[in-house]
Amino acid sequence: MPTRELSAPAPSPASAPRLARLRRFSESPLARYGMAVLSTLAALLLQQLLGKLIHPTPFILFFGAVMLSGWWGGGGPGLLSVGLSLLAVDYYFLPPFHSFKFQEDVGASLILFAAIATAITRLNVKLRQTNAERTELLLRERQARLDAEAERARLRELFIHAPAHVALFHGPDHIYTLSNPLNDEALGHRQVLGKPLREAIPEAADQGFVALLDRVYATGEPFHAQEMPVKISLQDGTEREFFISFVYQPTRNARGQIDGVATFGFDVTDLVRARTEHRRVEEELRRAEANARFLSEASAVLASSLDYESTLSNVARLAVPMLADWCVIDLAQPDGTLQRVATVCASPEDSERALQVQQLRTTTGGLSSQSPILLAFQQGHSFLIPILTPEFLRESSQTEEFAQVLASARPLSFIAAPLVVRGRSLGVLSFVTSRSGRRYTEVELELLEELARRAALSVENALLYRSAQEAIRLRDEFLSIASHELKTPLTPLSLKLQMLGREARRQPESPFRKAVEDYITVGSRQVKKLSELVSDLLDVARIAGGRLRLEFEEMDLGVLTREVTGRHEPEAARVGSTLVLEAPESVLGTWDRLRLEQVITNLVDNAIKYGAGKPIRIQLETDMGHSILRVKDEGIGIAPENLSRIFERFERAVSERHYGGLGLGLYITRTIVEAMGGRIQVDSTPGQGATFTVVLPRKPREEAPSNPSA
Ligand code: ADP
Repeated sequence: MPTRELSAPAPSPASAPRLARLRRFSESPLARYGMAVLSTLAALLLQQLLGKLIHPTPFILFFGAVMLSGWWGGGGPGLLSVGLSLLAVDYYFLPPFHSFKFQEDVGASLILFAAIATAITRLNVKLRQTNAERTELLLRERQARLDAEAERARLRELFIHAPAHVALFHGPDHIYTLSNPLNDEALGHRQVLGKPLREAIPEAADQGFVALLDRVYATGEPFHAQEMPVKISLQDGTEREFFISFVYQPTRNARGQIDGVATFGFDVTDLVRARTEHRRVEEELRRAEANARFLSEASAVLASSLDYESTLSNVARLAVPMLADWCVIDLAQPDGTLQRVATVCASPEDSERALQVQQLRTTTGGLSSQSPILLAFQQGHSFLIPILTPEFLRESSQTEEFAQVLASARPLSFIAAPLVVRGRSLGVLSFVTSRSGRRYTEVELELLEELARRAALSVENALLYRSAQEAIRLRDEFLSIASHELKTPLTPLSLKLQMLGREARRQPESPFRKAVEDYITVGSRQVKKLSELVSDLLDVARIAGGRLRLEFEEMDLGVLTREVTGRHEPEAARVGSTLVLEAPESVLGTWDRLRLEQVITNLVDNAIKYGAGKPIRIQLETDMGHSILRVKDEGIGIAPENLSRIFERFERAVSERHYGGLGLGLYITRTIVEAMGGRIQVDSTPGQGATFTVVLPRKPREEAPSNPSA
């Protein structure tokens, strides 16, 4: 708004004190009374000079002096001048001259002069007072005007520099009369002054601001609004949006009539945006937490069982109704087709419809080649259909009937996420919204894709587990058949070798006898070895099939240990080892004799095999109802990381090139020992030998398993 300049002429800074001094002096008693004396003296002098001319009225000039004294100095000086004039006239101009005595005939004129002069003085005093008051009033008025102008200027400064958008509008058309720089900047520095708002900012009318100003102008009611969105079109064609808290205040003229509107706006865009952002982040965080919770619950469900059809159904139940109103699961069949394995609906009313869909799918095929379920399965990537249209449903269905059943569920949004592992599609998880009114976006797609990834891994794990189980079953079956088949010819072979030995002994003179006996020894040893291997295989098959039976009897472990040790002495001697037995005469207990013999044999065999030709100690002792058997060698030993593994099936800790074997001996040994309620452990330092310790209860415990299995 073009502000009015201050109009009062301001005194120059240098002359102001001089004038003030002068005024102060002129008002001092000295000046006022001095002026009375001087003016009376002047009248006297003039009367002396002009006496001849104005002889008939010697008072005339003194009236002037009295008038001047009274006007200049007020009552006191006026009366002083009256007194002095009376004395001067009486002395100089009335007979007897040069004397203060006066004749009676002039007394009346003196009294008249005194009366008139006093009256003039009184009038002067009055005039002076009136003048003084007028001057005072004038001064006050001027000061008030100056103050008002200064106030306006200050107000304008305030508006200009206010940290708010300030604008003043005049008249019913809301003519812009002031727009402060902040407001100018918000408006993109448009020329708005002097223009009506509707013309200066056309978009203001569209956003209702002109109507608001109309209302405030018409009613005189101020208007307040918080965080109102405002859109301003900038010169470069872009649009700027911000949020303003407004106050619209009517302005009034001197007569108190509304003559315009003042608007004050506070830009709260940053605040609103920060709050919006805060809400968005909070919402995102909440959703991320919910998603993480959902995924972790789903993972727990997926990991809970290897029966993937039922775990997938449970996962579908988790997704409904949190993420979908329907969740259907289709899994790939060996023939490459898709088969529905689960349908979960949020509303029980939909269950019947789901059944109908299922029936139609099996009878008429249901899905067309354009179905997103089939496409997701074939192409291995997800499909998000934010809004399902009847046309889309028709395109996805093979028959009109199928499309109608689908449409009757009033589906809204759809996501098909394939179960893909290492590039192979195992099936499809499909999610549909209907009654909830929810529409899927990329956010849900991401979450459901993650769910499908985890579900796919779980399905694959289950499939792998199933095929591994099947492979193990086939292997055990093969082992069982193979070991029986292998065992069958071994017994007659062994008998034939014995018969051949007897025949050779019957012909002592034969030149081949020595060679034949040597072959028989080697052959018998190999047959025995083969027989032991086959027995091991048979035992493993028995354990796997749960057919390992124990026959408990009273027996002497001391005697058995001595027997087995004695039997192994030749073999030990052959590799350069000695067997040292440290055992009491008799250690009685209830055990399975044959199986225990197998345990001692396995441990001593291993000690000879891996004992590097060093001495082997076989120790037997008893302790608090237990028998403890130790087989110690000083051979190659076992690396710490292999210690626990060697008791498992087919596990070995040596290279096959150096040491033959199937890795079954310790497995069978552990199974037998544990079946008798005992335990076996090994201590070893690589390169320094190994000690196997078997602890057996002297009597089988009640709950000791007698039918162990792997
Ligand atoms: P195998 O001897 O036929 O390999 P075992 O089940 O009897 O099978 O033994 C498993 C593995 O344990 C052996 O391959 C060997 O690595 C290790 N082992 C067993 N006994 C000893 C031992 N006394 N010293 C060193 N290693 C041994």
